[in-house]
Amino acid sequence: MPTDKSAETLIFDRRESEARSYCRGFPVVFTRANGSVLTDSSGKSYIDFLAGCSSLNYGHNDADMKAALIDHISRDGIAHGLDMHTDAKAEFLEAFEDKILAPRGMDHKVMFTGPTGANAVEAAMKIARKKTGRTNIIAFTNGFHGVTLGALAATGNGYHRGGGSVPLNGVTRMPFDGYFGDKVDTADIAERMIADPAGGIDAPAAFMLETVQGEGGLNAASAEWVRKIADMAKRHGALLIIDDIQAGVGRTGKFFSFEEWGVTPDVITMAKSVSGFGLPMALTLVRPEHDIFGPAEHNGTFRGNNHAFVTARVAIEKFWANDAFEKEIAEKADVLEAALLEIAELVPGAFLKGRGMMRGVDVGSGDLASQICSAAFENGLVIETSGNEDQVVKVLAPLTTPMNEFRKGLDILLEATRSVMGQMKIAAE
Ligand code: PLP
Repeated sequence: MPTDKSAETLIFDRRESEARSYCRGFPVVFTRANGSVLTDSSGKSYIDFLAGCSSLNYGHNDADMKAALIDHISRDGIAHGLDMHTDAKAEFLEAFEDKILAPRGMDHKVMFTGPTGANAVEAAMKIARKKTGRTNIIAFTNGFHGVTLGALAATGNGYHRGGGSVPLNGVTRMPFDGYFGDKVDTADIAERMIADPAGGIDAPAAFMLETVQGEGGLNAASAEWVRKIADMAKRHGALLIIDDIQAGVGRTGKFFSFEEWGVTPDVITMAKSVSGFGLPMALTLVRPEHDIFGPAEHNGTFRGNNHAFVTARVAIEKFWANDAFEKEIAEKADVLEAALLEIAELVPGAFLKGRGMMRGVDVGSGDLASQICSAAFENGLVIETSGNEDQVVKVLAPLTTPMNEFRKGLDILLEATRSVMGQMKIAAE
């Protein structure tokens, strides 16, 4: 990472809050972006393996979404609509119903929440509590659900939790799939504790989980484990909430991360790539029997980003009308796995994490992962870490990345790992 502060970044140091984060690892000023390539003010290009933390699954400035948005703006289409009926919203809902929900046999209602993932999670947790009359939500180790106080209570990361500065209540933490290794079935532990009248676990309103823990280190739950949790939720009168904010919209291979498993969550949270264009938009999908909020009970001014509705509709029509995109994702996921295996071989003890196009390498230490990401950045690749100690080098490339660019990015990552490991060897000698 360059240590010299160029004059153009001084304004950020001087005026932007210390809460800024991603920019610290990539200390340049980005000026343009197209597809999977970002360009900085000096004209240097970077392949983007961060993709707005999976908010840009279709890449930057997709030509069709951009054209539809420009057309919408040029004809004075509605920009902000509260939650009033608009043509853009109707067209989005029709596309979402036709191409996403109906083909998957899903009867969920679509609740437009405030535009962040955290707000969709807040709505989901409130629905579960209101519906069941219970407070306790079961969340899992290493889960990340956002940093507003309700969602933060369900988030495991101690650093983020500390930022809340109040007691974070109403959530019981259980071990995620694989938390104690392969031989311990953590769903059985949860079942035992919840079923035991003296287990100390209050009757749950919901179980809330990510199928792949995006921020928590790409821990991927197995289908069997998620099915067990779904079954447990039903038996204990609790709702199943799947937080698909990072793992959804194709990231793990299909539109929803759970859709091949025969699991129908009561509530699903979506944000990040749902608008397709990186515009703020979040949804809480709710089975009709749980659609219990009265008008404005979970309110918010920014629930009607019509620009996002326009691009989200185009994204659905362009990428989800047939299975071609899913096949493309599967092909890239194979390439990704092969490349990451090669990278893992360079680091003693390293191993692969994740599923589909949401994968990475656990290199064993946050310091090493950060050195690899910095070396990659020097060579034109934007990539971040994840995990309880930031020890996972995490690839979140746009799913639309052309294969040659994808391979080029993976080569940069391989070389960065090789170079960092080489320097470490020299230092140790
Ligand atoms: N849930 C998951 C699984 C996430 O990965 C995130 C963000 O990374 C959130 C919720 C919170 O979303 P937001 O940052 O938009 O509030």
